[in-house]
Amino acid sequence: EPIIQFTQVNKVYENGTVGLKDIDLTIYPGEFVVVIGLSGAGKSTLMRSVNRLHDITSGDIQIGGRSITQAKGKELLSMRREIGMIFQNFNLVKRATVLRNVLTGRVGYYPTWKMLLGMFSAADKQKAYESLQRVELADKVYARADELSGGQQQRVSIARALTQEPRIILADEPIASLDPQTTHRVMDDLKKINEELGITVLINLHSVELAKEYGSRIVGIRAGHKVFDGPVASADDET
Ligand code: ADP
Ligand code: ADP
Repeated sequence: EPIIQFTQVNKVYENGTVGLKDIDLTIYPGEFVVVIGLSGAGKSTLMRSVNRLHDITSGDIQIGGRSITQAKGKELLSMRREIGMIFQNFNLVKRATVLRNVLTGRVGYYPTWKMLLGMFSAADKQKAYESLQRVELADKVYARADELSGGQQQRVSIARALTQEPRIILADEPIASLDPQTTHRVMDDLKKINEELGITVLINLHSVELAKEYGSRIVGIRAGHKVFDGPVASADDET
């Protein structure tokens, strides 16, 4: 059964800009799918549609066989909990500790007032610590987020996503602001959690080289249309 399924998805922004045009896309559990395309092609629009950071204009998106397009209230929250998100700019709370940042992956599991007071259970702190171990940053738990390098901050955001215990990780240009060396470290971590934990990864990249190095499948987007979808080996002629 597919874990992500787009059926005839269209997204038109309020000003009339076409974000996505007639997208059909089926992703199975455990896949590592790289979305490539030029700037403005619609990659972020596609990502943000998956966990409904914005609404689509028409069509349907199913997550694990349930329509997130139709979901409301608690059902939408529980579906979003299954989807971890990683952003180009990390989206960390800069002045908070690494541990505190990673614990925000538990948002939605707690009432807001407990979150604000930092009242997390021992089990959740343990979970956060284990996530940090997986990205080899356990020695940084009490460091302030903005004391870390860009690559380390991105790995903290991977740990935050893991703490959510997601079935899917969406990574929207996660390496766009990193240097080449750090880039590989972050990509290696994403590959590792895909292989070791079986988490489905959907990632946006500008670089075709990286897409081929890490992806098992490439989806090409141009002007909101899906123009390529296939295994990496067959992507050579098209890219
Ligand atoms: P990227 O190309 O990395 O996706 P952009 O610089 O295109 O990022 O967009 C940054 C932000 O500006 C996003 O939140 C996006 O939704 C918004 N944005 C992009 N293009 C437009 C536009 N034409 N009108 C209004 N907002 C836009
Ligand atoms: P990519 O991630 O591939 O760079 P985006 O998904 O950010 O592309 O953008 C796709 C198209 O939608 C672009 O033309 C962009 O300017 C436009 N766009 C993105 N966000 C908005 C927005 N909030 N309002 C209007 N247009 C937008």
